[in-house]
Amino acid sequence: MSWFQGRQGGDALDQLTILVGSAIRLLHGDSGVFVVSNEAFDPQSSSEYTLYRLNELVLPVLLSCAQEGMQPSSLQPLVAEIITPELAMRLGVEPGEAEQQEIERCSLMVNDGAGPIGALHFLRPARRHECFAFDGEEKTLRLFIAQLATGLRFALKSQSLVKEQSRLAAIFQHSAEGILIVDNALRIINFNPAMERLTGWRESEVLGRFYFEVLRPKDRQGSDPGLQNSPILQVFAGQEVINREMVIVARDGQRIGVSVTASCIRSTWGEPMNGILNVRDLTREREQEEQRSTFISVISHELQTPIAIIKGYASTLARTDAKLDADALHSRLVAIEEEADRLNKLVGNLLYASRIQAGGLQMELSALDLPPLIQGVVRRLKAKSPGVSVTLAIPPNLPTVVADRERIEEVLQNLLDNAVKYSPRLAHLTVSCRITGDEVIVSVSDAGMGISLRDQEQIFDRFQRAGDAHSRSAPGAGLGLYICRAIVEAHGGRIWVESTLRQGSTFSFSLPREEKAHLPMVVF
Ligand code: ADP
Repeated sequence: MSWFQGRQGGDALDQLTILVGSAIRLLHGDSGVFVVSNEAFDPQSSSEYTLYRLNELVLPVLLSCAQEGMQPSSLQPLVAEIITPELAMRLGVEPGEAEQQEIERCSLMVNDGAGPIGALHFLRPARRHECFAFDGEEKTLRLFIAQLATGLRFALKSQSLVKEQSRLAAIFQHSAEGILIVDNALRIINFNPAMERLTGWRESEVLGRFYFEVLRPKDRQGSDPGLQNSPILQVFAGQEVINREMVIVARDGQRIGVSVTASCIRSTWGEPMNGILNVRDLTREREQEEQRSTFISVISHELQTPIAIIKGYASTLARTDAKLDADALHSRLVAIEEEADRLNKLVGNLLYASRIQAGGLQMELSALDLPPLIQGVVRRLKAKSPGVSVTLAIPPNLPTVVADRERIEEVLQNLLDNAVKYSPRLAHLTVSCRITGDEVIVSVSDAGMGISLRDQEQIFDRFQRAGDAHSRSAPGAGLGLYICRAIVEAHGGRIWVESTLRQGSTFSFSLPREEKAHLPMVVF
C-alpha cells in the first residue's frame, strides 16, 4: 500500500489539520493521525490521512498497532491501551517522557448518521486518563464524535473541492487545445495558454472583452457569421455545437482554421452562467498533412534553382562562339561556385536531418572557449556580407563550456545567416553572451521581420517556415533551426526564440559550463 498525505490548498489543509489537532488535544493526546476511511474500522483501508505532530515515517507502525490491538466499535467508539516504552519511542515519544510515564495508544472511530468517516489514532500519557471526562461519560463522548464528524465531513468536502479545482486548473493550463470561458454576457473570464499561443493574445489583454471581438470568427466561406450564430449563444439557447469548423483571426491578422466545441454551465434554475469554448487548431493538422508534399516541392525548388543557374552559366561557358573577357568569365565561375555551395549546403542539411531522425548525430565534446569561436564566425559573415554590422556583447572571463566546436560553429552560423536573410533592410546584429548558474547563453538578435507567436512554436520543426509569402521567398528549406535544436539538445542545452513581428528576433541557446557539466565525451 502506498501512503501519501492528502495535499490540499491553503485553507482546506489548514481546516483539516486544525480540526484533527484540536480533536487530539481535546482527547488529551500529544500526537496522532486521522485516517479517512469509509470502512467500519480498518486502520489501513485508506491512503488519505492528516498528521498531527506525528512523523510520517512512524505512521505504518502506529497503524499496524491499531490493527493488531484493541479496536473501537459502535458500542465502544474510543479504545485505549498502554504500550511499552520501547514502542512509544519507536512512535516518536521522547525517551525521557516514555520512561517517566506510561503512554497509551488510542483509536477513536468517527462516524455519523451517514456512516463511517475515518479513525483518529493518537498517543497520550496514561496518567491523564482518569481526569478525562469523555472516557467515563459516554454521552459526552458521543456528542463530541458527532461534532467532530460534522467538522470533518465539511473539511473533507472542501478538501476534495480544492483538489478537483486544482485538477481542473491543470487541465485548463496544460491542455493542447485552446479553452476560453465566458460569463453570461459573453465576456472572457478565462483564456488558457494554448489559446494564447493560438491567437497571439495574452490572457491579461482579453479578460473582460467580448469573446467575438477577440476571435473575430468567420465561417468557412470567410463571411461574418453574425452574433446569432455565435457558438456560445447557440449552446446558451440549448443547441449543440460540436466540432464546428470555422476560421478565427489571430492578433496579427492571420486566419486560422479551427474546430470549435461549445458547452454551457447552468445555474440550478437552468439559467446559462458560463460558456466554454474548446478550440482545436486545424491548420496544424492540415499543415502536417501538407508537410510531405511541401517537403517534395521545397526540396525540388531548392534543388532546381541552383541547378538551373549552374546549367545556364556552364552552357554559356561551353559555347565555342562565346567570347568572354576575364571579368565576365570570373563572375560566371564565381556564380557557379556559389550555387554549387548552396546545393552542397542543402544536401548536407538533408543528410544531417535524416541522421538526426535516425538518432545518429555524434558529438565530440571538449572544453570550448566561446569568444574566439564567435569572433571567427562573425569575421566570416562580414567577409561574405560586407554591409552587415555586428555588435559583440561578451562579458570578460566567460567560462568555458563543454561542446563540439564544429557543431556549435554551425549553430551560430545558421542563426547569423538567418538574421541577415530575414532582415529586409541592411542588417544590424548583436551577438551576446550571458552566464547563469550552470550555463552560458549565447544570443543572436536582429531588428528584422520578426516571427509571430504562433509561428515561433513551429520553426524549430522540420521544413517549417514562418510568415507570409514575402519571407518564404527567401531561399531556405526550413531545416536550419531543426538542425540547430538537435545539436544544442545533444549538448544538454536549450534553444529558443523571443520575437515581435516586424520588430526583430532574438535566438538564444544555452550550453553547459565546463565545471558544472557531467557529460560523456561522445554523445549520440
Ligand atoms: P530556412 O531559413 O532555411 O527556411 P530555418 O529552419 O533556418 O529554415 O528557419 C525556419 C524559419 O524560421 C524560416 O523559414 C523563417 O521563416 C524563420 N526565421 C528563422 N530565423 C529568423 C529570423 N532571424 N527572423 C525572422 N524569421 C526567422
